[in-house]
Amino acid sequence: MTEGQRIYLSPPDIGEAERQYVQEAFDTNWIAPLGPHVDAFEEEFCQKVGAGYAAALSSGTAALHLALRLAGVGAGDEVLVSTLTFVASASPVVQLGAAPIFVDAERHSWNLDPQRLADFLAIRDRQGRLPRALVAVHLYGQCADLDALVEICERYGVVLIEDAAEALGATYRGRSPGSFGKCGIFSFNGNKIITTSGGGMLVSDDEELIQRARKLATQARDPAPHYQHSELGYNYRMSNVLAGIGRGQLASLDEKVEATRRNFFAYRDALADLPGVEFMPEATWGRHTRWLTCLTIDEQKAGVHRETIREAMVAKNIEARPVWKPMHLQPVFADALCVGGEVAEDLFERGLCLPSGSNLTDEQRQRVIEAFLEAFR
Ligand SMILES: *Cc1c(COP(=O)(O)O)cnc(C)c1O
Repeated sequence: MTEGQRIYLSPPDIGEAERQYVQEAFDTNWIAPLGPHVDAFEEEFCQKVGAGYAAALSSGTAALHLALRLAGVGAGDEVLVSTLTFVASASPVVQLGAAPIFVDAERHSWNLDPQRLADFLAIRDRQGRLPRALVAVHLYGQCADLDALVEICERYGVVLIEDAAEALGATYRGRSPGSFGKCGIFSFNGNKIITTSGGGMLVSDDEELIQRARKLATQARDPAPHYQHSELGYNYRMSNVLAGIGRGQLASLDEKVEATRRNFFAYRDALADLPGVEFMPEATWGRHTRWLTCLTIDEQKAGVHRETIREAMVAKNIEARPVWKPMHLQPVFADALCVGGEVAEDLFERGLCLPSGSNLTDEQRQRVIEAFLEAFR
């Protein structure tokens, strides 16, 4: 590695098994959406996350779109969404004609604050205006407080959908996220902990839901020799070639999680004692994969703003990013309601994501640490 080579935030980490599976797809001419790799990837994924059923799809966003539609979300509905997230957690809500209501984060997990959720739903219950669903995000590799969210959603009849796009490999009381709610979604975009270049998975313990999802994902074709449609669907299935990549990636998930956690420990050992620097906490309920290692910088104590450090890293060809800009601050959601919001705003203002690839070398990590320390002084 040459000294100035670009260090990415979360680049793909591809092995030999992926190549073999893709070769197999070519050799057997299964170059199509659907095929043996798709079936096997779904099965192996279910095993890995302990879900009953899964549908492999073209993206995590497609999976969430189907999840919301199958939850009955439509025009005029309201859907609660974590405000501290990527836009794809919320865009399918609007695309279905519904309105998002954003909910603030809590400090000790950076995920949706169950107390704010419960308070808000109690008020809405009295008004007889309950939202239809909740999209709860598991941020940066850490689960939200699922026991609390499941209980609150059950109490008010709100459908819980887990956006686990960033949290494959995480645990909540020993279990994978994804099937605590009615269904869960995962992403295999190029920057996620495993990738198929682009892809996603919808999981659920409800077999009928997954069968419905598979039908909607293939243009909602009725069972008939001719092409017949009684409702409209989408072209959302995963390619058999990409499912081959996914199978190889999934087989090395545990090593990837170990590697991303190792990144975190190394960063923490080098930077945690600096005044005003705090790493994203690991909540007591489970394992944080540290898909991305994130920290906050308190300008008062550190004497330096997050942006100064980030820009210094970028100048050294190191990709670092601010924490997600909350959805309630996005121009496109200017009209949306937000329950609280100060915590997410503060994390956005002070938060920084460091290069966290599972294939980050010790040398590269050292370069990141040195760049950080230099900018900090
Ligand atoms: C990546 C991501 C998605 C979308 O997944 P795609 O596969 O890119 O469509 C959704 N939600 C969150 C929180 C994400 O990080």
